[in-house]
Amino acid sequence: MAPRLEANVDLAAVRHNVALLAGAARESGAATMVVVKADGYGHGAVPVSRAALRAGATWLGVCTLEEALELRWAGITAPVLSWLHLPDEDFTPAVEAGIDLSVSSTRHLAAVLAGARRAGRPARLHLKVDTGLSRNGCLLHDWPDLLDAVEKAGEDAEVVAVWSHLAYADQPTNPTIDRQLVRLNEAWELARARGLNPIRHLANSAATMTRPDLHLDLVRPGIAVYGLDPLDRPVAESPLRPAMEFRGRVALVKRVPAGEGVSYGHEWTTPRETTLALVPAGYADGVPRRLNANGRMRVHLAGRIRPVVGRVCMDQVVVDCGDDEVHEGDVAVLFGAGGPTAQDWATELGTIHYEVATGVHGTRVRRTYSGE
Ligand SMILES: *Cc1c(COP(=O)(O)O)cnc(C)c1O
Repeated sequence: MAPRLEANVDLAAVRHNVALLAGAARESGAATMVVVKADGYGHGAVPVSRAALRAGATWLGVCTLEEALELRWAGITAPVLSWLHLPDEDFTPAVEAGIDLSVSSTRHLAAVLAGARRAGRPARLHLKVDTGLSRNGCLLHDWPDLLDAVEKAGEDAEVVAVWSHLAYADQPTNPTIDRQLVRLNEAWELARARGLNPIRHLANSAATMTRPDLHLDLVRPGIAVYGLDPLDRPVAESPLRPAMEFRGRVALVKRVPAGEGVSYGHEWTTPRETTLALVPAGYADGVPRRLNANGRMRVHLAGRIRPVVGRVCMDQVVVDCGDDEVHEGDVAVLFGAGGPTAQDWATELGTIHYEVATGVHGTRVRRTYSGE
């Protein structure tokens, strides 16, 4: 029996998307790091990683040490880069597990080197340069000091890469992109002048798909791997295939007379006698309460798209089915094939599909896989 509430991830779609991205990178001579931070953008980091490695990716990227170690514990041996840390974290287990570590300051470097000494093996470093995002990364002004400290580390440090992250990748002709590339190259040249021979990486999904000149040695697509188009093209026009389908099963069906208020605050009243279907998915599960603030949330149920009526509650929504036949146990597609898309939700909410996909979680959403 299908779960009451389910985020189904189609791993065949993940493989399709990775093959496309890795194929484009390969044409530029670049390798592909699939980004599986935030539990694979809500799709499950381990299954997505395995699918991605089968489809042509050779690296994995994560945000935290815990996320990196989870991949190792699952038996994944591919290179993994972890990039957002506090300087007081213990890097020993990560170095022992052969995790590549991003470093953005001399303080962070010192912490990583302490871990390397405890682990008794060199730390594999990706030196991150802030080329104009002003988030993580070392400013060019402080770069020589960072290189001095790396030099001083001797055998404890192995510099794998110099890298950065773009501010405007979704606008492929934005002038900041070229400026960021110039600064990355400047930092890379300074590293090479010290006798280092690091690779370079810069491109996320959008840049991987639109700017082959930014592929450099390695690309780092995330969102596109999950089939969500970084350029916001509609599903029908995108070469990508959305991997996640969010669906729930109808818990209760009933005929309700005209003039009855529906859900908290009675924001909607039955205009006539109608059939209402209750779907057990609410804001605790990743259906944002704001999604139906304007009464525009839709689901695919019993053969067609139907409106959600009244407020989204913590645990449930109500679907108006008119005089159509609907049964308890029927599957309602919240987003995915036949229903609205994650992009539709994002548009309605004034956000991006990244937030929609990572928002589908909680103890009640069963994650299932198909296309294995
Ligand atoms: C999340 C992230 C990516 C992937 O970005 P997408 O836009 O999802 O492709 C790449 N690099 C870094 C540093 C990131 O934080």
